[in-house]
Order: sequence, then C-alpha cells, then structure tokens
Amino acid sequence: PEPYLYVIMLTGKDRKEDVLEGLSAGADDYLTKPFDPRDLAARLRTAKRIVDLQADLIAAREALRVQATHDPLTEIWNRGALLEVLGRELVRAKRAQIPLCLGIIDLDNFKAVNDAHGHQAGDAVLREAVARMKHSLRAYDALGRWGGEEFLLVFPECDAAAGRVAAERMRARVADGPVRFGDADIKVTCSVGLADAGLELGWDSDLLLSAADKAVYRAKLAGRNRVIVAEKADAHKR
Ligand code: GH3
Ligand code: MG
Ligand code: MG
Repeated sequence: PEPYLYVIMLTGKDRKEDVLEGLSAGADDYLTKPFDPRDLAARLRTAKRIVDLQADLIAAREALRVQATHDPLTEIWNRGALLEVLGRELVRAKRAQIPLCLGIIDLDNFKAVNDAHGHQAGDAVLREAVARMKHSLRAYDALGRWGGEEFLLVFPECDAAAGRVAAERMRARVADGPVRFGDADIKVTCSVGLADAGLELGWDSDLLLSAADKAVYRAKLAGRNRVIVAEKADAHKR
C-alpha cells in the first residue's frame, strides 16, 4: 500500500473561504504567507506523527491479514485460505470447462519421527518437507496446510494425467534425501491422493476432497511414498 501523503498548503490568501476550500480539497493543514519557519517546523512534527501512525496501521493490518491466512509453522496457506482458493478455482474451471486437480498429501509414518526424534525434529521435518514441495510447484499451484502432517494442493488447469506428473515430481522431491536434524538423518516420504474435477468427479469441493482422501488411503495401503489418482467410485464411498 502507498504511504500516506500529508499535504500542507502554503497560501497567500488568508480568507477563511479559501482555506476551507483547500482543506476540503484534501489538504491536511495550511500556512499563510508570510510564514514563520518555526510554524512550519511545528506543523511538520504533527505531520510526521500522523504519517508514522498511518504506516503502523498499515503494517499491523498487513500482519493480521498474513496471520489469518497462513499456517505459522510452515508459512504456507492455512486450511481456510486454501479452501477459498479451491472454491474460486473450481468456479473458474467449471465456467470455462477447463480441468483442475486437487491433491491431498500425507506424510508417511510421521508419528514415528516424533516418537524417535522428538516434536522439534518433527516440526523441522514438516518445514523441510513443505520447502521441498514448494520448490517442485509452479507459481500458480496452491499449497496449504490441511492440518497436522496433511497438506492440500490445487493444480489449476491440470487434468489427471498432468496432475499425476506434477504430483509425482513433488513426491520424488520430498523423498529426495533425508532431513538433517542435529545428528539425525530423518527419512521423509509422502503419500498423495489426487482427484481431478470435471465430468468424472464433478466440481463439488467436498466430493473432490473425499475422493482425494480415499486415494491417499489407498496409497497408504499400497505401501506409501506414491501418488494415486482417485476413481469415480472414490467420490461416493464414505
Ligand atoms: P501414515 O503413514 O499412515 O500417515 O502414518 P502417520 O504416523 O504419519 O500418521 P498418524 O496420523 O498416526 O500420525 C500423524 C502424526 O503427526 C501424529 C502427530 O503427532 C503428528 N503431527 C501432527 N501435527 C504436527 C506438528 O505440527 N508437529 C509435529 N512435530 N508433529 C505433528
Ligand atoms: Mg495423516
Ligand atoms: Mg501421515
């Protein structure tokens, strides 16, 4: 946001109407000629106070906006913000009849990481896993924390085939080498369930989420560290 521009008008006219006109046109303050430099200095002090306050307000508002939409640990979108992105993208995709892929990512055997190395190590692994995910994504893919060690991905304009390629690249990147924490090398992998919006599964976000969730579950059963694309039946099973 633009910093506030504080306007002090210097006017030769000291008729009350002229001063009022200047103030109502947007000036913050005025001086009449000939002016006393001490007078100007005093008004500049007031001006500085207002401008500083305004800057603080803008910074505080911006901080609140980030806090309300981001996960503090991983600094990616939080659940609410990502659901909003998903809703918007689904509307857009449906209207334009273009594909969209939704992915749920679940870190594998993550409880064991906490158990073996402690919660702090777990947090470090979460952050590093997210950094790896982000590196493998395109600028317009959206990644958010769904909760715990689960993440949600939105791949706009990707059908199942393109989504699978992108998710597979991401999965490989996450699994690419252990995460170092203190003296420990901690292995990290993830399972991904993908659901593609469109004719097969429709455009409803709840249905797509439940389909992706079923696909994650199948990825776990199949041995973890893999990407599974949801089938139509996944959307309806409870
Ligand atoms: P699976 O491969 O089946 O997904 O096994 P899992 O161990 O990953 O799954 P489970 O749901 O049993 O455990 C998830 C663990 O994630 C349990 C919880 O303590 C841990 N966890 C969730 N959020 C956080 C967090 O913010 N920090 C840390 N350190 N651990 C977390
Ligand atoms: Mg989980
Ligand atoms: Mg897990």
